[in-house]
Amino acid sequence: MSARRTLIAGNWKMNGLAADALALAGGLAEKMKAAGDVNFDMLICPPAIQISVAVAAVQGSGIQVGGQDNHWNASGAHTGDTSVNMLKDAGCSCAIVGHSERRTDHAETDQIVKDKAAAAQAAGLIAVICIGETEEQRDAGKTLDVNGSQIAGSVPDGSTAANTVIAYEPVWAIGTGRTPTNDEVQEVHAFIRGELAKKIGDNEAAKTRILYGGSMNPGNSKDLLALADVDGGLIGGASLKVDDFWTVAQNA
Ligand code: PEP
Repeated sequence: MSARRTLIAGNWKMNGLAADALALAGGLAEKMKAAGDVNFDMLICPPAIQISVAVAAVQGSGIQVGGQDNHWNASGAHTGDTSVNMLKDAGCSCAIVGHSERRTDHAETDQIVKDKAAAAQAAGLIAVICIGETEEQRDAGKTLDVNGSQIAGSVPDGSTAANTVIAYEPVWAIGTGRTPTNDEVQEVHAFIRGELAKKIGDNEAAKTRILYGGSMNPGNSKDLLALADVDGGLIGGASLKVDDFWTVAQNA
């Protein structure tokens, strides 16, 4: 059994209003409290404006709350952005950075993602750094190259297993209902761990959690979470329903 504790992380994206956040976070908190000891960590990442609602709703449940993004600067003239200190102040322990939707919608480069991750780490947050190839890149046989160069470019030097989580999210699998085969997922995860070792050393890489993301759901999560180098999931659609997300967690 792996020494890495499974992390089940929900990325709510830009979905739901405060009442939905309360119901979802509260419903998961009830399940966690009733379950007692569990063999996984649970993280929910609501829209920034609903973080406080979610933090209040999960009090005492052990569920962690994270941001979906953060700015690389501590404060200043950055209209619409959220700083790492604001996330911490609101009760977050983690921040997702470099999600493919942000890389695409906001033209985030590896350097920007790295700066955001470094800011999160420096503030004491865990940076959940997302990487993954597009369908075109996969079809061109560039899957490993792309993920290798994103690890090299997006992971800050000096990252540790304690302040870093990697999420491998093939862009073509996000929200599509399609996933790579289990063998393909394991191959990429093992490769990512090797690339991470070049950057942060064998010891830290061996302890770092690498999540799979992209259409993980109650039906496929048992097999995906059983793969040797898959240490959890970053889950979009299936994290928006208490029962679905809870079933994924039960498959850890
Ligand atoms: C995501 O956006 O991080 C994600 C994995 O979404 P989905 O689970 O809906 O594919």
